[in-house]
Amino acid sequence: MWELFCKAPAKKVYHYALLICCSCFLSGLIIILAKQFGFPGRHSLWTKILHELSLMLNMIEIAEEHARREDATTITSVTVEIGALSGVIPDAMEFAFEACSKGTLADGATLKILCIPAIGRCQKCAKECAMESLLDGCPECGSYALDIMKGQEMALTELEVD
Ligand SMILES: [Zn+2]
Repeated sequence: MWELFCKAPAKKVYHYALLICCSCFLSGLIIILAKQFGFPGRHSLWTKILHELSLMLNMIEIAEEHARREDATTITSVTVEIGALSGVIPDAMEFAFEACSKGTLADGATLKILCIPAIGRCQKCAKECAMESLLDGCPECGSYALDIMKGQEMALTELEVD
């Protein structure tokens, strides 16, 4: 492997290093997940957690970008809005935040999660109603043709930096 490194042009070395870092990161992640949730079984939960982890990695990247633009050295608090129909589990987000923020500007920051209720509008009678699930019908006319007006989104809404 070392010989391979020496012979490879600089760009290749960088790629190999990146690849090794990624696989270390992934195996580390799998060990953390296995400790937390047990293995095997619970496949749907695992898929869910991986989904939340990738969302959170993305979100921390955005938060760091904003913080750097403000010349901040630490992020003290991150506020995230999660729609009731976004499919994102707040508990999983908290776990993902703890795992993904290590070593970033958001290390040690408080995560505030605001759950946003979902609102639908009936295509038939135009009545707006609260929605608990995607299978909800209109309470007025019983139609299932509801447009989701709010509650499917997830957004980083507030950042406190130092
Ligand atoms: Zn209706």
